[in-house]
Amino acid sequence: MKYLKKYNQKKNQPTIAIIGGGPMGLGISYQLAKYGYKSVIYEADDRLGGMAASFDFSGLKIERYYHFHCLSDKPFFKLLEELNLEKKIKWKKTKMGFFYENNLYDWGSPISVLKFNQISIISRLRYLFHALRCISIKNWNHLDKVNATFWLKKWLGKEAFNILWSKLLEYKFYKFKDDISAAWIWSRIRRLGLSRKNFRETLGFLDGGSYKWISKLEKKLLYSGVKINFCTAVKNISLVNNSIKLLSSNNISNEFDIVISTIPLPIVGQILDEKSFTLKLKRNYLDQISIPCICVIFKTKKKITNNFWTNINDERFLIPGIIEFSNLTNKKPHITYVPFYMPKDLKEYSDSDEMFISKSIECLMAINKNFEKKDIIDVYCSRYEFAQPISKVNHFQNLPPINPVKNLWTIDTSIYYPEDRGISESIDYGRKLVKKILESFEKDAIKK
Ligand SMILES: Cc1cc2nc3c(=O)[nH]c(=O)nc-3n(C[C@H](O)[C@H](O)[C@H](O)COP(=O)(O)OP(=O)(O)OC[C@H]3O[C@@H](n4cnc5c(N)ncnc54)[C@H](O)[C@@H]3O)c2cc1C
Repeated sequence: MKYLKKYNQKKNQPTIAIIGGGPMGLGISYQLAKYGYKSVIYEADDRLGGMAASFDFSGLKIERYYHFHCLSDKPFFKLLEELNLEKKIKWKKTKMGFFYENNLYDWGSPISVLKFNQISIISRLRYLFHALRCISIKNWNHLDKVNATFWLKKWLGKEAFNILWSKLLEYKFYKFKDDISAAWIWSRIRRLGLSRKNFRETLGFLDGGSYKWISKLEKKLLYSGVKINFCTAVKNISLVNNSIKLLSSNNISNEFDIVISTIPLPIVGQILDEKSFTLKLKRNYLDQISIPCICVIFKTKKKITNNFWTNINDERFLIPGIIEFSNLTNKKPHITYVPFYMPKDLKEYSDSDEMFISKSIECLMAINKNFEKKDIIDVYCSRYEFAQPISKVNHFQNLPPINPVKNLWTIDTSIYYPEDRGISESIDYGRKLVKKILESFEKDAIKK
């Protein structure tokens, strides 16, 4: 049990609370433990992991939302090493597809793009040139100032944009589709573009899924004296003398010297106490927009396609793509995720889980004409309200302060823009922030 190392405890340490037990909260708690500080984690759910948490899918422990890794996810690999799990990461050359006009096309490789005869050869060449350009851009500041629709149309032309991009943006962002910053889209294209070996897209997965690293880290944290409060949502944050008071869903209040919140920023806006914080500040948090995700997962006897990822442009379904996870892991039974992203005010959002399941089945049957309902072994639907923060043009100008008052820190996945939300990014950001937080606390303590 080499990974269960005891860290030396600091004497006279501040009391530290972390709100949220997702990858970022776990990364923070772990880094604090390594520096010799104990923390208390408040987690609303009955398990750790947040968006990366797993559930029991009729005997199979698997994430509620798919998780793959790219070759650039170095901070995540470092954590795996520290947990003696580095050998559990497996790599595979993956295939991509594109479902358009009732046909399934190969996609992703230069040859497949050149063969895609639904757009002119000039548009295909522009698409490839743009993909190459995305890899070579290093300074993205100018992209933060333009929207993705404008930028993609400029590079690809209207024809390629309309067929290849417009539905992806629409079925993820709806009324916000023309607000998304070009820098955010660029970093997504680049991340995947760089995850290639010998020009072939190469993606990774953790054997055993995210559960493997989360459960091992949980053990390590508990062993280091971290306290984890499950099913304990923080309902109110207020300032009392020189402390920060947290009221949780079990109606218990506790005061801390330092509080680090990793929960979605709009929730922070709801729980900042009106007597301690200005309405202007609360509004700044509440104005952050995050799109919910309703994700259907299937266990089936048959594959739908040979692809890991199939993008979809089809008005019959509000689905930007499907992810066949077992085409990455090469394991049986076959697993397919069907994500629906939609704002809460879209009328379809209030549809039942059964409705989302039935729409997903229709979509799978359209993509694979031989797929039948009897091929389904099991199906499950999960929802996460704050799944995809919207990164608009001039992103950082709209974000609330990360340190709104002394010793209170508020961050979520939108903080590491232009990177998209990711396990590696959340862990890395959280771990790096710890040093800054402790330095700031110690500086204040010396002044007193
Ligand atoms: C559909 C989907 C697919 C994804 N695919 C990938 C992928 O392939 N690769 C990848 O790296 N990443 C992927 N991600 C993103 C990844 O899951 C996130 O980046 C990561 O989980 C973010 O971690 P976090 O700790 O920052 O936030 P979260 O995971 O959101 O954790 C926040 C935690 O706070 C808790 N919480 C909320 N309110 C309260 C409260 N009031 N009190 C206490 N606790 C509270 C929540 O329960 C949650 O556990 C995907 C996400 C989704 C939704």
